Amino acid sequence: MSDLADLRPNEEAVELEPASDATLRFIGAIRTPWHDRKNCPRQGDLDGPECQLVLDPVWHDALKGLEDYDTIEVLYWLDQSRRDLVRQSPRSDGQTFGTFALRSPVRPNPIGTSMVKLVRMEKGTLIVRGLDCLDGTPLLDIKPDRCAFSPKAPPKMGSGR
Ligand code: SAM
Repeated sequence: MSDLADLRPNEEAVELEPASDATLRFIGAIRTPWHDRKNCPRQGDLDGPECQLVLDPVWHDALKGLEDYDTIEVLYWLDQSRRDLVRQSPRSDGQTFGTFALRSPVRPNPIGTSMVKLVRMEKGTLIVRGLDCLDGTPLLDIKPDRCAFSPKAPPKMGSGR
């Protein structure tokens, strides 16, 4: 997919197998203190325990510049979820909600996202607070909360209607 001629100055690419359409590539694994869903928080807490995003070595250089951010967004694959529910009852009380009206891990493509506090970086490992996933959860992506190359959202139009 990558073409060396497309690179901007000082950008680097690595040799990878071609990815087929919509095939995800895990970039590492998440280490957390939680081994059981019963103990795992439903949403992360920025004052919660330190967790580690352990990147595969091929991606270490892709972290350059991230150390400037206090808050980063993490995307992960909730690999132990079932994926076939269209309605769910989060409180087990018979009241159901549509899957897409929930942040449940049970969804057709079980992607989880969290905004986390970046505590420090140690080579290819990020130490963060604010996660809510099981130990060993596959890591999909990392993004700064907003960087100089992200367009700001356009100002909201007046709500006079
Ligand atoms: N913060 C993410 C979001 O909003 O997209 C995930 C929220 S989800 C409600 C968090 C819950 O997913 C945890 O409490 C746990 O029950 C479950 N979970 C965590 N890691 C998982 C994994 N690897 N596979 C399946 N379920 C997981």
